[in-house]
Order: sequence, then structure tokens, then C-alpha cells
Amino acid sequence: SEKRVLEIRIIAYGEQQMLLIARDVTRVRQLEGMRKDFVANVSHELKTPLTVLQGYLEVMQSMADEDDPNQRALTLMQQQATRMKSMVEQLLVLSRIEDSAEINLEKVVDMQKMVALLRTEAEALARDDYQVTFEVDPQLNVHGDELQLRSACSNLISNAIRYTEPGGTIHIRWQQVATGAMFSVTDSGIGIAQQHISRLTERFYRVDNARSRQTGGSGLGLAIVKHALSHHHTELVINSTLGKGSTFSFIIPQHLVV
Ligand code: ADP
Repeated sequence: SEKRVLEIRIIAYGEQQMLLIARDVTRVRQLEGMRKDFVANVSHELKTPLTVLQGYLEVMQSMADEDDPNQRALTLMQQQATRMKSMVEQLLVLSRIEDSAEINLEKVVDMQKMVALLRTEAEALARDDYQVTFEVDPQLNVHGDELQLRSACSNLISNAIRYTEPGGTIHIRWQQVATGAMFSVTDSGIGIAQQHISRLTERFYRVDNARSRQTGGSGLGLAIVKHALSHHHTELVINSTLGKGSTFSFIIPQHLVV
């Protein structure tokens, strides 16, 4: 009748024995699915009203005079509406990435094309305030999902810029290493205290510093990165020194390298 889901763990036990533990996770999975659907639906439903609000705020702002006392309030409202919209969009991206349990890893991602896009994006974000450099192996391509990989890389780059003071440097690498293809972003930014590092990829987890609150991010970026990377059989590695800067990196395993 109803399909049950079992989680089975096999543990070596002494020299010649094994311990097999089976757990019925049907209900847990159902609840998890309901949570995901709920988040996806709510985000989707919020998008339209927010777009309408944004549109009217823009019209009102363009009609108000320079010295109109409401001008400041309108600007603030518009900023906050934009921020809310981008959070809702990030939530949608996250629920889509979480949902795709198995992705198609047969396609080859053209990394040259992707790096070019990332470069344009990084330059637009950094303007003249940061020195952004790229060190890229032009031959190195991988099997994977282009959108998810791009989303991961682009989140890491925008964070590096966001959490670095103007005048700082951002260095991006894509190169062959012993175990696969490594992508890394090194910044000379504010850095992260050790006790926060293991929790950064949790949804909405933000280091409680003035910078995080000011920057207007959603707290979802690294959760998106984590899920996108797990679909590519890899995980995020974070090295950071408070006050000095951070390196966020991942290695696409050799069996996915072209
Ligand atoms: P946010 O939208 O807050 O940037 P993320 O999930 O992308 O959300 O990141 C979570 C938190 O990790 C951030 O709020 C910030 O405190 C910290 N963080 C991420 N990237 C960096 C970085 N390059 N340097 C310092 N702190 C970072």
C-alpha cells in the first residue's frame, strides 16, 4: 500500500561481525517534503505582490519633487522592497536546488563561458573599489549542472566582495589539483571567527556583526552553495582568519573532470 522509506546503516562490529541498523524515516521524509513545498509556495505567492509594490513605489518616487519630504521615505521603502524580493527569490532558488535530489551530471559545463560571466558579474559588483583577479586553467571543464555551479560560484564571489572593505583584493582560481578541479575565492576581508565556520551553510545563519546586518544579504547564499555542491559530489571548504580574510573553495572530484 503506502511506500515506506528505510534508512539503513551498516557498521563493522568486531572482526567478523556487522551491525545493521534500519530506521523507518517515512514520516520524517514526508514532513521534510511538506516543509519544502510550503516554503516554495509561500515564496512563489509573495513574488507578485512584492513586484506590484516595487512598481508603484518607483512611480511615486519618480513623481515626487527633489525636496519632497516623502522622498527619503520612498527611497527607504523601495530599498526594503527590493531586499525582500531578492530574499524571496533566494528562497525559491534554494527550494529548487534542495528539491532536485539527483541531477543530470552527463552534460559538460563550458567553464570558459561560465568564468567569463562570473568575471562580468564580479567587475560590476566590485566597480573600482576592489582589485579582482582571475587565475583560470582554460582547458579545465567538468560534468555538472551549469546553473547550479554558476549559482555556487557567484554566491562565493559576491560574498567575498560584500565582506571585504573597499580597497581590498579578491582572487579567484579555477585549476587542476591532485583530486580534481578546484574553484576558490580568496578575499582580504573581515574574516570569520573559528566558532562560526561550521555553521555558515545553515539557512539564515549569519555571523552577528554589524557588517552582515548592513549588507542586506539573505543568509541563504551559503545554504544554496552547499546544496549545489553536494549534487556535484563535493563540499565547501572554508579557511578564514578574523580580520585578515577568507578562502572559500571546493574540489569537483576527478571522475567529473573532463
Ligand atoms: P548572507 O546573505 O548573509 O551573505 P550567506 O549564507 O551567503 O548569507 O553567508 C552567511 C554568513 O557567512 C554571512 O552573513 C557572513 O557573516 C558570513 N560570510 C560569508 N562569506 C563571507 C566572507 N567571504 N567573509 C566573511 N564572512 C563571510
